[in-house]
Formats: sequence, structure tokens, C-alpha cells
Amino acid sequence: PPLLHISGVTKRYRQGRGRYVDALRGVDLEVPRGEFLAIMGPSGSGKSTLFNLIGALDKPTAGEVTLGGLALPRLRPRQLAYVRCRHIGYVFQAYNLVASLSALKNVALPAVFGGAGVDEADALARAQLDAVGLGHRLDHRPDQLSGGQQQRVAIARALVNAPALLLADEPTANLDHRTGSEVIDLFRELGAARGMTVVTTTHDHQMLQRSDRVVWIRDGQKVREASSAELEITT
Ligand code: ADP
Ligand code: ADP
Repeated sequence: PPLLHISGVTKRYRQGRGRYVDALRGVDLEVPRGEFLAIMGPSGSGKSTLFNLIGALDKPTAGEVTLGGLALPRLRPRQLAYVRCRHIGYVFQAYNLVASLSALKNVALPAVFGGAGVDEADALARAQLDAVGLGHRLDHRPDQLSGGQQQRVAIARALVNAPALLLADEPTANLDHRTGSEVIDLFRELGAARGMTVVTTTHDHQMLQRSDRVVWIRDGQKVREASSAELEITT
């Protein structure tokens, strides 16, 4: 079975008295284990809404979201918290690093939340920072790192509990072309090495060219999807 299975998902937001917007309408999506998928679409098309549903951060108004066989909308809060902590790694556009903590301690934090002791969490964090090429910046605080390095810390943090799914919101949006390209390489390498599924929302054409598959959404609906092989033929 696919890692992620979404069927008939609708998300309705209330926008004031008696006014609603359907941010997603009848979206179906399957993501096999190990795939590197990019979700593209113009601003306001529903990408963040889909990100939040895939990441168990919000519930659909209707439809099913299944991750590793678990029906996310039906889980209790405690189970949801467990899934978020142990099975999903999040990379947010603004990185969301703790400013007062070193790179090492930022990365160690989710391991501690996941139940690791401090020494074990530090060891896991060191290994993840090595894996993203930041083994020499363990003691630096976020403000002592470049944007690309902060993004790598955020990726290391997302990896520390060995999630099945790495979910990244516009991960290259704040990076220059070359740094963005390196981050995409990193996603590809990590995904391949760990059999991890990577899902990004993006506007970045580099991401489009180097993902395994691209899904386009517009006005809350999936309007197109193409594998990398199909994209190569049409471009
Ligand atoms: P994107 O990430 O592609 O820019 P979003 O998922 O953020 O799109 O938004 C899709 C639609 O849902 C937009 O019309 C937006 O205004 C609306 N929307 C998003 N979040 C909320 C919310 N919390 N409350 C009300 N409307 C929302
Ligand atoms: P647009 O109206 O810009 O064509 P689409 O949702 O069709 O919007 O596509 C999103 C982006 O992906 C566009 O910028 C488009 O240039 C690009 N794109 C569309 N089809 C392909 C393709 N077959 N191969 C590569 N890039 C594509």
C-alpha cells in the first residue's frame, strides 16, 4: 500500500458570517513509499491547506487521509501527537529554529520530545547534522548561520526521529538558486538513502525538474500530475 493515501478530500474554511471558501475540493492523491513528490500551484490554490492535512496538523471537512495505514482524521489527540512526532518530519518555510539554542540543541529537541535521554538525543542530533553537512557547526546559534545553513539545521531537526515522511513547505523559497539546488540534492540523497518519502510544496522550477512526480493544484483541485519521465518528454 502507498505511504500516503488521500481520497475525496475537501477542506472548507469559514470566512466570516455565512461565507465559506473551499480551499480543497475532492482531492485524490497517492504517494508511494520513497517517492519525492512536489506539489505546485499558484498562491491561494490550497497548497498550505494540503500540507496541513498531509502533516496531520489539520483535519479535512470531508474525505480520508491515511498515513501508513492510519486514518488521520479519526485519531485521538494523543495518537495524532505521536504520529506528528515519530512519523513525520516538518520543514517550515521560516525554518522555525529556536533562536537561543545551538544547532545541536535545536536538532536534539524533537528527539527529547520523542522520549530520548539528553545524551542519546545529542548523539542523534550530531549524526543528523553530519548527514546534512553541518557537523562543524554544532555549537552555532541560528543567527550565526547563513540562510542555507539554517535550512539544513531545520532539515536535520526534521530527520532526527527517523520519520517515514519528510514534509517541506517551500523549502527553497528563501534560498538563492545554488543553495536551493544543494537543498534539493540533499532531499534526493536522504530520501534514497533512507527510503524516506519526501513531499514538498513549491514554486521552484528546479524542484519541478528534479522531483519524481509533480502534482499541480489550482483553486483547490488537482488539475494535473506528471512523473519526471513524462516531464522530460514534454519539455
Ligand atoms: P496556498 O498555500 O496555495 O497559497 P492556501 O491553502 O493557504 O493556499 O489557501 C487556499 C484558500 O483557502 C485561499 O482562498 C485562502 O484564503 C483560504 N484559507 C487558507 N487558510 C484559511 C483559514 N485559516 N481561514 C480561512 N480561509 C483560509
Ligand atoms: P501555467 O498556467 O503556468 O502553465 P500549470 O499549472 O499548467 O500553470 O503549470 C505550472 C508550471 O509548471 C508553469 O510555470 C509551467 O510552465 C510549468 N509546466 C507546465 N507543464 C510542464 C511540463 N510538461 N514540463 C515542465 N514544466 C511544465
